[in-house]
Amino acid sequence: MNLLPFDELPPHKPRRFVPQRIDLGDWTQIEPLLGLLESRVAPCKTPADLERWLLDWSELGAALDEESSRRYIAMTCHTDNSDAEKAYLHFVENIEPQFKPGQFKLEQAYLRHPLRDGLPRRRYEVFDRNTRAHVELYREENVPLETEEARLCQQYQKLSGSLTVQFRGAEKTLAQMARYLEEPDRAVRREAWELVANRRLQEAAKFEEIFESLVRLREQIAKNAGFTNYRDYAFRLNRRFDYTPDDCFRFHDAVEHEIMPMMRALQSARRRQLDLESLRPWDLAVDPLNRPPLRPFEKGDQLVARSQTIFDQLDKELAAGFRKMNDLRLLDLDNRKGKAPGGYQSTLNEARLPFIFMNAVGVQRDVETILHEAGHAFHALATRNEDLFAYRHAPIEFCEVASMSMELLGNEFIEAFYPGADAERARREHLEGIVKIFPWIATVDAFQHWIYSHPGHTRGERQKAWTELMDRFGGDVDWSGLETANLWHRQLHIFIHPFYYIEYGIAQLGALQVWSNSRRDKARALADYKHSLTLGGSRPLPELFAAAGCRLDFGAKTVKPLIALVRQELAKFG
Ligand SMILES: [Zn+2]
Repeated sequence: MNLLPFDELPPHKPRRFVPQRIDLGDWTQIEPLLGLLESRVAPCKTPADLERWLLDWSELGAALDEESSRRYIAMTCHTDNSDAEKAYLHFVENIEPQFKPGQFKLEQAYLRHPLRDGLPRRRYEVFDRNTRAHVELYREENVPLETEEARLCQQYQKLSGSLTVQFRGAEKTLAQMARYLEEPDRAVRREAWELVANRRLQEAAKFEEIFESLVRLREQIAKNAGFTNYRDYAFRLNRRFDYTPDDCFRFHDAVEHEIMPMMRALQSARRRQLDLESLRPWDLAVDPLNRPPLRPFEKGDQLVARSQTIFDQLDKELAAGFRKMNDLRLLDLDNRKGKAPGGYQSTLNEARLPFIFMNAVGVQRDVETILHEAGHAFHALATRNEDLFAYRHAPIEFCEVASMSMELLGNEFIEAFYPGADAERARREHLEGIVKIFPWIATVDAFQHWIYSHPGHTRGERQKAWTELMDRFGGDVDWSGLETANLWHRQLHIFIHPFYYIEYGIAQLGALQVWSNSRRDKARALADYKHSLTLGGSRPLPELFAAAGCRLDFGAKTVKPLIALVRQELAKFG
């Protein structure tokens, strides 16, 4: 039975190295291919041989990646099918861990190869830099520590996911409680907020213990790899070659000085509209005019059709890409029983085609999500002709420029979903959301810089560092009488993906620049955007930004005019 929402899709190019018939879930069939690659690298006689070898290796990588994606998609579309779950877990537990050491050997062999210097330099500089960093960080003795790290991360997720509260006679997960923060009745909002906060507080000691074990492990991992602190190790690991911790500090300062005044203005407007003495944490998500939620569509097919209308107006080529995805059934958007929560875009890397998964229920958030994921999908389509698998995806900082720009560019045509006044409301909510996320990004990032540059700190010192950041980036929210020192426990990234968060801020600044360019010259901005997507991961981050018509810079100089534009735009809505 085919559990995938789409039909069989052939590879974009016929296989040349990987056999036509192979079970990619069977390690005994994959292992010989790695062996073959290993034995074939040394005998390469010319740079052309070596390039061909790289493409064979690439083909295997893409085939395995697509196998993993297919199993993941099948599982998330059928959470009630235990075979689908087993098939995915089998791959994660038995194929990936065995593939990694083999992959590492190939990387070493490639870097050592005498002909590598004969390869076109510009073509391979990024690939070489990434491969070198990966090999340099690898330490045998870190493998068990990384397994332990993964175990602790899973413990965090399990603990977070298991928390429930009793609300109005029913048991609710904390995620299910979020919608009550949008209730017009303030007492209900307060009750919901306090229930969730108190439930987390009950587990505070456990969260702290997990986190402290994680920090200790990470410090050891960094030390083993020859680094004096985990921050510097994490910057290498995350391939941050083109910006430094100082750039991150400049981002924090820019948020503090350029964005916080606007954040405060938005908060005070909200406070006045809600007619409150002070804004409390449970007053931040409700519509300030007590209007019912926007209803952009009823069913997924309307979501597809109306999104198509947006892309048709935006750009012929992008529109054709979206239409093709729909024709090939690469859009699975409707919420239904048996689907995993959330939304994502995944790429079938052999077919070189994107797939979008969502749980659309007919709210404005779904419109933002489809535009966002479509941006990722356009990125995948734009790199179809790149044969080196490693270059078919960009660094995350730039992937999110592709998706966040599409939210902004697509929103210009949001009348496809709404009559006039509601379209304005949707655009306003989106822009306000952008302003509000920056201070949170700065908080989460600055906190982690503090953590990993203060080895041996105490729990009390950590809490103090956190509350100071809340004072700096929280704006005018009244927290009196509430426990705030542990509020970071809910931010998964701090536990599971250390340092991974500022990427969203960097990308949002890129997206705002693309949008700002499009206000001056629509055709040119779109052409630059599309061209930058075709580069995939083949160029360093600053060049990808430049190709899209923006600057990789997160200081005040860049932030100031962008925020001025957002302010101007919001003022239009009155
Ligand atoms: Zn994204």
